[in-house]
Amino acid sequence: MTTENVPAPKPVPVPDELSKPFFEGAREHRLMIQRCNQCHMFQVPGRFVCDECLGDDLAWVEASGRGTVFSFVIMHQRYNPGFAAEIPYNIATVELKEGPRLLTNLINIANDDIRVGLPVKVSFEDISQDISLPKFEPSSE
Ligand code: ZN
Repeated sequence: MTTENVPAPKPVPVPDELSKPFFEGAREHRLMIQRCNQCHMFQVPGRFVCDECLGDDLAWVEASGRGTVFSFVIMHQRYNPGFAAEIPYNIATVELKEGPRLLTNLINIANDDIRVGLPVKVSFEDISQDISLPKFEPSSE
């Protein structure tokens, strides 16, 4: 018996104390980000203190799910066997309307058509019963 043709599994995120609200929201297809109740800055991923004012009065709120492509790369190298079948694939930094930047993948767009500044909206990919990942797709708005 050979396992040669069985695709390797992709790594799956394991939520911890700080990322749990993010992944619980994602499972319900809601993009959750942290807001500082002191200075009203938004941040993601979650942290114990605000990056802006170092306050620790932070709340999780649902983001608009809208943003623009801030930067991207096209991956041609196989760093993890779980992604081998998708090479070349994109990795993008999306700047949310609320300000924070999120590392993600763009979907429903050819790699050659990706541009910095492209308007995008969130679209969730259910990768298991417990984990959904926020990806982004082109948006006309
Ligand atoms: Zn703050």
